[in-house]
Amino acid sequence: MTDAWDFGLELRSDPATTAARTAVLDKPGFGQAFTDHMVVATWSADRGWYDQKVTAYAPLKVSPAAAVLHYAQEIFEGLKAYRHEDGSVWAFRPDRNAARFSSSATRLALPQVPEQDFIAALRALVTVDEAWVPPAGSGETSLYLRPYMIATEAALSVRPAREVLFGVIASPAGAYFDTGPKPISIWLTTSTIRATPGGTGAAKCGSNYAASLAGLAEAVANGCDQVAFVDAVERRWLEEIGSTNLFFVYADGRIVTPELSGSILEGVTRASVLDLAVDLGHTVEERKVSADEWRDGVRSGEISEVFASGTAAVIAPIGRLAWPDGDLTIGDHSINHGVGPVTATLRQSLLDLQYGRVPDTRGWLT
Ligand code: PMP
Repeated sequence: MTDAWDFGLELRSDPATTAARTAVLDKPGFGQAFTDHMVVATWSADRGWYDQKVTAYAPLKVSPAAAVLHYAQEIFEGLKAYRHEDGSVWAFRPDRNAARFSSSATRLALPQVPEQDFIAALRALVTVDEAWVPPAGSGETSLYLRPYMIATEAALSVRPAREVLFGVIASPAGAYFDTGPKPISIWLTTSTIRATPGGTGAAKCGSNYAASLAGLAEAVANGCDQVAFVDAVERRWLEEIGSTNLFFVYADGRIVTPELSGSILEGVTRASVLDLAVDLGHTVEERKVSADEWRDGVRSGEISEVFASGTAAVIAPIGRLAWPDGDLTIGDHSINHGVGPVTATLRQSLLDLQYGRVPDTRGWLT
């Protein structure tokens, strides 16, 4: 094994409080304000990776002919760093994001970033911009980390680019959904499909998100917060909710999530929830779940809770499902703001781990 990328870190964000940073940390929102620095590294087919550095956050200089702008050869990741009570800062399961980045790179014909370099890049940016990690005790706040890779070669031929840029940016984050840990509403779309068998649904590439936006717009036009997508072939098997995975809690204690179909993104939160649910005594099932099973199960009371999971969203309770000719309320909205007990417990278990309030027995924190 060669040494990981060395960023020779002399840079530091000024630890002294600045008005701009205080304003952001007081009300972080999501993905709107960025830290003082960023990581960039360059790759060419001839040289491999070179010139990796932490530098001041600034616009990139990219040719208008860059392949990414025309053919969407791009991937990204999303994970968070959390400040613990003792002031230390921890990333949650970055090895999983490194592995997913690597398989996304393979699918998009982009070069590999070895796990050790991926993690060295995250570590470098968090070290330099540590002052931007929200303080402990400021609620569900964190520093959201966004690694990405784009095809920068200026060439209009359709083929894997021979010049590529890898980067990491960081953004202080508050709660993802505007409504906080209150139930969200979901629009079930069958008119648009997010991903197809053999396509890129299991990769984290920008083009999947572009393909999801019309569905999201349809959801918002129908008064919902987020959109649920079904499979491309039979158009009845549930896949994902916007940029989150989907879970059902059955009244008998079973927890069910759609199986990885090849067109679903395997969430790090999804994998963690499955493990935590077993710890909490639940039986977990990964299998096909149809939109009809969702509707019938809620109507009969067999399904007692539904939630979405993702890094940005954590665990978001779902309180309503709507579709072109129907509407269904999920759970009892008169109790605990409509957040079901299993959803609340899983959410708390995950947050307790991420914020270091319980021992990290699995080594999920780096
Ligand atoms: N599905 C999609 C399409 C996503 O974009 C995300 C967010 N990365 C997820 C699921 C959840 O993944 P994770 O738990 O790793 O954030």
